[in-house]
Amino acid sequence: MTHSYDADLNLFINGSWRTGEGRDEHAVVNPATGAAIAGLPLATPADLEEALAASAQGFAIWSKTDVEARGAILRKAAGLIRDRAEHIATLLTTEQGKPLVEARGEVASSAALFDYYAEEAKRAYGRVLVRPTGQRSMVIKQPVGPTATFTPWNFPVYLMAKKLSAALAAGCSVIAKPPEETPGCTSALMRCVIDAGVPANVAQLVYGVPDMVSRHLIASPIIRKISFTGSIPVGKHLMRLAADGAKRITMELGGHAPVLIFDDCDLDKTLDMVVPQKFRNAGQVCVSPTRFYVQQGVYDRFVAGFAERTHKVSVGDGFNPDTNMGPLANARRPDAIEALVEDAKTKGARVLAGGARGNKGYFYQPTVLADVPLEANVMSNEPFGPLALIRPFGSFDEAIEQANRLPYGLAAFAFTENGRQANQLGDALESGMVGINTFAISVPDAPFGGVKESGFGSEGGPEGLDSYLVTKAIHQA
Ligand code: NAD
Repeated sequence: MTHSYDADLNLFINGSWRTGEGRDEHAVVNPATGAAIAGLPLATPADLEEALAASAQGFAIWSKTDVEARGAILRKAAGLIRDRAEHIATLLTTEQGKPLVEARGEVASSAALFDYYAEEAKRAYGRVLVRPTGQRSMVIKQPVGPTATFTPWNFPVYLMAKKLSAALAAGCSVIAKPPEETPGCTSALMRCVIDAGVPANVAQLVYGVPDMVSRHLIASPIIRKISFTGSIPVGKHLMRLAADGAKRITMELGGHAPVLIFDDCDLDKTLDMVVPQKFRNAGQVCVSPTRFYVQQGVYDRFVAGFAERTHKVSVGDGFNPDTNMGPLANARRPDAIEALVEDAKTKGARVLAGGARGNKGYFYQPTVLADVPLEANVMSNEPFGPLALIRPFGSFDEAIEQANRLPYGLAAFAFTENGRQANQLGDALESGMVGINTFAISVPDAPFGGVKESGFGSEGGPEGLDSYLVTKAIHQA
């Protein structure tokens, strides 16, 4: 299936779009075929210096721009994203591999973020404290300053939109570095923001060698806030760099989401929900349901039902309307998944579906492993791929102990029809988000973020706006 690749692969620095002009290039690859489709220009240190100086100028303008005017521009950006949705989604599927229907959903959710923060921008409230007559103590919020954002390739449009919309709403200027693997869709998103009227130096776009770009930007005294979504090791590395300048950070890192299936759940309904969720975006989702702990009374039926539904998942090119699951996004993923599956098999896991890679591109079959021993590497390391791991449990306490046993805590899910048990689960699961009988946990108006090694700080909701604001107390006598 061929689709024309109509991407503008440019940097946007200091008010102008920059093309190759002798810069090094990164080869953009279609993951469904493994073929290179374009070259992406990479920023030089001089480009980054120019972007930093421009970002300081942009902040001076934008932080003083009336909040209503900021909101109007964000709302206009949301409209442009919707107008250009089909183009952006097509680029996303070509570069990342996800089925077109998922790409369209990602673009629609990105527009919704801009709409939400267009409104929320007005609610950066402070307070006045009670004082004797003639005195005032005020607490106010101000934008933190020029911000650098680093986002990954699994939801390249949505995750960049999440940072950009909240930072711009707060009055910050932003230098965005999306991933080099999927640059057409993120450049198209930036075009919507610029065309909506954001002043040129307020939002800038760079691609480059990630380590060089992040070191350069984070070391600059101009940058006051870093927001990163990606892997735990890279997040820890960026935290160390940020510590040198005592900079504010938001870290949305990996997870290894447990799913507790209780005997009293509605089993067929639950299976109809969990299987498509597992294989959404080929499992390359930081909150992907991964460790399925199933109570003994329904264990055999759950395992059989999961395998049966998995066999029906149609794998193929994301542009084929029958495709439920596309390829993995890059060559690193099938290698990683293959190693984890082989290790689990050697240690005694039963393969009930899949367990092999495809014969072209970066495909790996939807895979179900049952009775996976705790010693298998995959029970402790986030697979970030189409792997479901199933184990039995007996009591509520045992399920909680298993769910909480890892040093991660991004999302956790549970399926039960017992209301009292649902309340207890919400309290006991160690994670930033808990979904009970639902996977709908990533929405514009609620905080999204992890605990433990899954990071800290929230995106989405008022908390997401607050992460780009500093608090100041002003006392007047
Ligand atoms: P990686 O650790 O090399 O990179 C993760 C992300 O960080 C990528 O987007 C990459 O461009 C960026 N990155 C890497 N080094 C960087 C640096 N020095 N400075 C700034 N950005 C940098 O891993 P990968 O192979 O791209 O992805 C594999 C793992 O990353 C997955 O197994 C998963 O655990 C994690 N991941 C998590 C998310 C998420 O949404 N939390 C998204 C993508 C990947």
